[in-house]
Amino acid sequence: MPERSLMAANWKMYKTVGESAAYAKELARRMESLSQEGPEQVICPTLPALYTVGRALSQSSVKVGAQSLDLGLEGANTGAVSGYLIREAGASYVIVGHSERRQLYGEDDALVAHKAAAAAESHLIPIICVGETELQRKAEETDQVVRRQVTRALENLADSTAVVVAYEPLWAIGTGVVPDPVEANRVAELIRDAAEKLLPETTNSLRILYGGSVNRGNIRDFARQPHLDGALVGGASLDVGHWLDLIQGWQEVRR
Ligand code: PEP
Repeated sequence: MPERSLMAANWKMYKTVGESAAYAKELARRMESLSQEGPEQVICPTLPALYTVGRALSQSSVKVGAQSLDLGLEGANTGAVSGYLIREAGASYVIVGHSERRQLYGEDDALVAHKAAAAAESHLIPIICVGETELQRKAEETDQVVRRQVTRALENLADSTAVVVAYEPLWAIGTGVVPDPVEANRVAELIRDAAEKLLPETTNSLRILYGGSVNRGNIRDFARQPHLDGALVGGASLDVGHWLDLIQGWQEVRR
């Protein structure tokens, strides 16, 4: 099991560059008086704000990440942003296969696998998102869907690659509804088991996050689950005070 937890903020398509910079400066300021013992933090702002947010956090321990990447290095690919360019802009992480990318932009398991590999080649740690729809849960297909998504996403990665998997049931994202944390833990264990079969060297460092309507009222319940190593947070990460409450809530239970 990995020693240090990870809390990742997904800002989606929110905040101007100015708003993002103000948040990052405030976070860096407040981090000065907080213990460095807490979970690792990564903020994933919009792409236009990535460099600015990274600069504002450069004296703190908080890392930055992108919310997606395109394949390739550089070239005549209008509108695309490669892992190499994202890394150059200061990111250490990138979210891959978020359900909004899968649903709105048609990213399938095969593309997610290529993107995860492209991230690793660019020395970015992929945060690979998996999770079932409400229909799939009702049909008792959760295990099968999640196992397939994890297996496909990891298949192009070399063993010992640093990787994070976020279990995000689609029906919990942005809805205020969360699964029983014990059930989230059960699915996280299944993810660990599937990953171990494919990448045995990676499993000691593999971190599994829970994502979907995490807030200051439920964070401790998820932190108590042994197979969860952190959280991926959308809405509740947009306010710096709420975000730091989540960091503190996790830290009260875990490191
Ligand atoms: C997400 O978008 O990854 C997410 C977990 O969103 P929210 O926390 O708003 O449900």
